[in-house]
Amino acid sequence: MAGLPTVEAPCALCGGDRAEAMWTTPDRAFAVPGTYTVARCHDCGFLYQRPRVRDDRLADCYPDHYPRHQEPSPRVPFTGSPARIRAVRWALARGLGYASLRDDRAGPLTRLRARRLLSRLRWSCPPWTGSGRYLDVGCGSGGALGVARALGWQVAGIETDEAAAAKARRFTDDLYVGDVLDAPFAPARFDVVTALHVLEHLAHPVAALRRMLDWVAPGGLLIVEVPNAGGLGARLFGGAWSGLELPRHLSHFTPRTLARAVEQAGGRVVWCLHQAKPRYYLRSWSNCLRDRGLGGLARLSEVRPVYGVLKLLLELGLPLVSRAGRGEVIRIGAVPARSAAQATC
Ligand SMILES: [Zn+2]
Repeated sequence: MAGLPTVEAPCALCGGDRAEAMWTTPDRAFAVPGTYTVARCHDCGFLYQRPRVRDDRLADCYPDHYPRHQEPSPRVPFTGSPARIRAVRWALARGLGYASLRDDRAGPLTRLRARRLLSRLRWSCPPWTGSGRYLDVGCGSGGALGVARALGWQVAGIETDEAAAAKARRFTDDLYVGDVLDAPFAPARFDVVTALHVLEHLAHPVAALRRMLDWVAPGGLLIVEVPNAGGLGARLFGGAWSGLELPRHLSHFTPRTLARAVEQAGGRVVWCLHQAKPRYYLRSWSNCLRDRGLGGLARLSEVRPVYGVLKLLLELGLPLVSRAGRGEVIRIGAVPARSAAQATC
């Protein structure tokens, strides 16, 4: 079946026009017609979809039931037993700057539990910054906005999908429906701006980063999260890697190319976290088996007890992958170059 119309756009990082095709796959998740190719730029090594879906047809890559547009209630961290909630409050206060949650009566068990929770909370809660003004770019139905609001932030969002934006209005009326490049927010208006699994979907990632950095107030932070095309999964599985997500992902960043994009947009990366969840590898593994005509084996590895055992085995080894800086997902903190001199690495 014919795919969506595409365009031969040059490399979004260096403007180079020479690129070598690496992997061609169909849409494995939502069966958008056609096959799509990831190419590597000859000049700078950037991986990107080429040819890529034409700007005016990008919305056709997303079905009505696209998960980001249908998120359930936000995962607010204050859930579970009173002891867990005490540990969450301590972790947020001591590890992420939420001074108002500080409770010096916390005992050693609470502190120990908080230390274990903190590594997960870093991925779901923005570090408290400035006076708590927060913008989520590509907010979908508002999962991150709901969490931030529960943590005391004044929240705002940008979303292109109208149905998803209508759901995000549960959390704020300060919502722009449209392209990030057209959003009318004033410069330096926010203490934290996030773009979580958004940048790889955009046709003009450097221009989008420039806009986002412009909205960051002095002393503030831009947080960007993307799949890591430089991680172990991409290396092992190549065209079967679950992070390719064609045709929705137009760019495939590594820590190096993401840092370069931030620099070109007038910013600087000040920290980088890696995450390696078993489900990413198991999805890639299933893709790999199906590509080799082993659909039966793929289905077997998705049966609950088998999947559980594989997941457990992976959980034992994956912390090492994250520590080695080869995770499946990277989250970076960046600051505008104008304030980079004050940042700590
Ligand atoms: Zn390039």
